[in-house]
Amino acid sequence: MPVSRDLALAAKAWPFDEARKLVERFKHESPAKGYALFETGYGPSGLPHIGTFGEVVRTSMVRHAFAALSDIPARLFAFSDDMDGLRKVPDTVPEASRSFFQRYTDQSADIGGVPLSCIHDPYGDCHESYGAHNNAKLREFLDTFGFQYEFESSTKNYKDGNFDATLRNILAHYDEIYELAAATVRDERRKNYGLFLPLVMDKELGLPRYLYVRPEEVKPDAGTIVFRNPQGKFVEHPVTGGHAKLLWRVDWAMRWVTFGVDYEMSGKDLIDSVKLSSRICAILGARAPEGFTYELFLDEKAEKISKSKGNGLTVDEWLRYAPPESLSLFMYQAPKRAKRLYFDVIPKAVDEYLSFLEKYEKEEEAARLENPTWHIHAGTPPREEAHISFNVLLNLASVCNTEDKAVLWGFITRYAPSATPRSAPILDRLVGYAIAYYRDFVKPKKHYRAPTEMEQAALADLEKALAALPSAADEKAIQTEIYEVGKRHPFLDLRAWFQALYEILLGQSEGPRMGSFVALYGLNETLALVRRVLAGEKLGAA
Ligand SMILES: [Zn+2]
Repeated sequence: MPVSRDLALAAKAWPFDEARKLVERFKHESPAKGYALFETGYGPSGLPHIGTFGEVVRTSMVRHAFAALSDIPARLFAFSDDMDGLRKVPDTVPEASRSFFQRYTDQSADIGGVPLSCIHDPYGDCHESYGAHNNAKLREFLDTFGFQYEFESSTKNYKDGNFDATLRNILAHYDEIYELAAATVRDERRKNYGLFLPLVMDKELGLPRYLYVRPEEVKPDAGTIVFRNPQGKFVEHPVTGGHAKLLWRVDWAMRWVTFGVDYEMSGKDLIDSVKLSSRICAILGARAPEGFTYELFLDEKAEKISKSKGNGLTVDEWLRYAPPESLSLFMYQAPKRAKRLYFDVIPKAVDEYLSFLEKYEKEEEAARLENPTWHIHAGTPPREEAHISFNVLLNLASVCNTEDKAVLWGFITRYAPSATPRSAPILDRLVGYAIAYYRDFVKPKKHYRAPTEMEQAALADLEKALAALPSAADEKAIQTEIYEVGKRHPFLDLRAWFQALYEILLGQSEGPRMGSFVALYGLNETLALVRRVLAGEKLGAA
């Protein structure tokens, strides 16, 4: 459905704020290339990282908001820096494979690593190279999410000569750019510090590797640099056609200039690089892209998640326990806050997604533009009803102690007769996810405790109250009864009563709205559970 432009112009959701930067950029002049270009970057020294994924999700959201604000067409390049040299063995590489990678890494202060796109594919030679393997993985998972993007390989662009004109432009402004870039490194590194890393053949390995050299002379017209090689000989070497690569921050600017990138966001760790690359861009006569700095994620120990450390969790791990939309929601929310990204944030993300989806149906257009599901689904969220929250499903899986979807569906269909795996496919997926999450995260931590004497009396009271209810009692009526029982006994407050119920009946310290849970699990089944406790049985012992 086309969005009213006036509403889009006034919308407050952050992707609209970002998109308005581009509207401003193109206010006086549409881009000469005929489209607005968004870029995201990926370094394939390891498998795709959840941060890379987050960048593509968020950039796609901005792109979609831009489409609601402007008639200028847009493209998104997912750029892979696969020509990068392998400097050291990534921490994420398992012990058994470390020696495989060792020979491709930097060998000394002068002799650098092999380009990722030249390293043999260690995963059974299924691709042309290690870089190509990781590129394929990136595309595979971007495709799973249905992103619209064009994949660009650094190696291919270098080799095809697409960068040549800008590379010569850099040679023409070499000293100016060198001063800027060299100011960021320590003095002792400057003796072999140059903007270009020439690629030379390593005869022993039969593969090219980079040299770290400071050129004695640069020749813009010839497109070459002259340097002394490790053997002490003067060599004139072309920087065009993929015979050399730029230092990455200069490389980044070169790409912005060549492609005409209008928008690229990046992590907080790259703030200084953005500044430097933007200044280089200006020296080369181009306008740096609009940008946005997002915060990095934290792992379970509140340490920054990094690609090289491999801490935190992966996209695949998230998708084992929850639908992709919940991960997109997590990426949408508060991009400027350092958030914990760990398994325990998953259930909340799922339930928030479900409640936003439900709200969307009833909202006016202006409110819909602020609803995360509008951004997650590019303006057309599906009309789906989950019927039951993920947390309640987790509790159901927990109290049934089952890994069988059919068992859970038995309870669900009794509670919501219109819901079946066919009529509510989203709920069917959630049942599967709930079982997996319960098995891996809830079950190992479950701890049932026996009731105290006072709690025992309250439970006996609860048993009578529930037994007196008509079998068709709804969740509200059940909740009221549970409340009343709590009030009749000397609990510190009602929270303490509910916590006791969770700890005794469910083996956990937190839980669902008891009324909803009892309605779903069944009055008789709940009574049976309470009676087992009253008879002195410790739940979960079986
Ligand atoms: Zn492969």
